[in-house]
Amino acid sequence: MLTEDAGIRADERWMRRALRAARDAMLLDEVPIGCCVVVGDELLSVAGNRTRTLCDPTAHAEIVALREASWIAGNYRLTDAVVYSTIEPCAMCAGALVQARVKRLVYGARDERAGAVDTQFGICASSSLNHQIHVTSGVLESECRAIMQEFFRARRKADAVCQMPDV
Ligand code: ZN
Repeated sequence: MLTEDAGIRADERWMRRALRAARDAMLLDEVPIGCCVVVGDELLSVAGNRTRTLCDPTAHAEIVALREASWIAGNYRLTDAVVYSTIEPCAMCAGALVQARVKRLVYGARDERAGAVDTQFGICASSSLNHQIHVTSGVLESECRAIMQEFFRARRKADAVCQMPDV
């Protein structure tokens, strides 16, 4: 039981780190999703979305963090890694997690539209692929969802201002 509690505390601690990266992304007008890659008790990498900043459709937080973690580890296989993502990964990112052979994925809130882990596709558990990933969901879920809602609410408000007719 104690071990389980310690595990939950560690998951929340790393998710807070991913949330910080999500907030940093929001400051750059990026969709506020953050991710960190951890091995044992060591942080290998942390990143937020950078699609606009890098003008790169693949620069989701998970991809950016996996790239850096692989460089640091000197290995494109991250078999001991636990990946923390604030939002359920999309098809591209879930596929990348399988390619990297990560051990475990922890995510905060579901992406009810494009999530490819539990919502759609079930990529991390698919027996059609040659690696399956343990998944824990719902860690700091409300915080992870709230920052997304805040971002899209602000964006809709900005759009509404732009659409105001000239008077
Ligand atoms: Zn993605």
